[in-house]
Amino acid sequence: MDKITIKNLEVFCNHGVYKEENILGQKFLVSAELSLSTRKAGLSDALEDSVSYGDVSRLITAEMKKQNDKLLERAAERIAGQILKEFPLIDSVRIEVKKPWAPVMMHLDYASVSIERGWHRVYVGVGSNMGERQAWIDMAAEALRSDGNNRNFRSAQVIETEPYGYLEQDKFLNTVFTFETLYEPEELLLRMQEIEKEAHRERKIHWGPRTLDLDLLLYDNRITESPVLTIPHPEMTKRLFVLIPLCELNPHGVHPLYRKRFAEYKEALEQQENK
Ligand code: ATP
Ligand code: CA
Ligand code: CA
Repeated sequence: MDKITIKNLEVFCNHGVYKEENILGQKFLVSAELSLSTRKAGLSDALEDSVSYGDVSRLITAEMKKQNDKLLERAAERIAGQILKEFPLIDSVRIEVKKPWAPVMMHLDYASVSIERGWHRVYVGVGSNMGERQAWIDMAAEALRSDGNNRNFRSAQVIETEPYGYLEQDKFLNTVFTFETLYEPEELLLRMQEIEKEAHRERKIHWGPRTLDLDLLLYDNRITESPVLTIPHPEMTKRLFVLIPLCELNPHGVHPLYRKRFAEYKEALEQQENK
């Protein structure tokens, strides 16, 4: 990916754990590495096809002066989030905040914190088979669409499907959402569980009836396993009610772990059903 770099932008402000730092202030140096495609601007020579490093420098200065943070971590986090939200052409940023006059009573060049943040493409499986099924799905879509940490939200068509696993229950409505997010995977899972709670979701029977079920299917091409979160979702390749809406949104998608197209899983399951 191409990069635009801003190195050691000087900002005088008042971050720090100590009261003296908050009163007297000190010099900070902020560096930003912006990842984006500069190809279009490279051919057109037009600033509107790229990102102005002047504008980004002004944003960094304003964000540094806006409030006093105790930690460089927090200042860096706020700057990264603001840059990603205000400049849609940027996919990811690396921010380093240096403190050359860190009050540690020893000599050092500087102390610094660097972080990398960016937009991540996710796919969320959605299901409902209790109450106003379509209304629960609409509520979840609206909550995720209007969240400032998400952008470019799209939903596949909603389909009606027979129950899976536990068969003594009503038919489901299913779909898949896709969007880009600034949340880390476990943060997004928590956000999705809050939305399930707002829909009065209760966990009684495994695979049993529910007002709203939101499963994190894919997070970029990430493969992770923890006690609370497995991505890709382990059951996704076995479920037509996931694969049909997923292939509508991303017809050429490939499973990051098994390296096989989702369309192939879908066709195999459809053939099995038609036998
Ligand atoms: P299934 O996961 O087979 O579709 P389910 O959706 O009915 O079953 P839940 O009761 O909704 O299962 O979730 C059980 C637990 O699964 C959650 O508490 C959550 O921590 C965990 N989990 C692990 N990986 C994921 C994931 N990718 N998306 C959502 N939940 C996950
Ligand atoms: Ca599920
Ligand atoms: Ca679930």
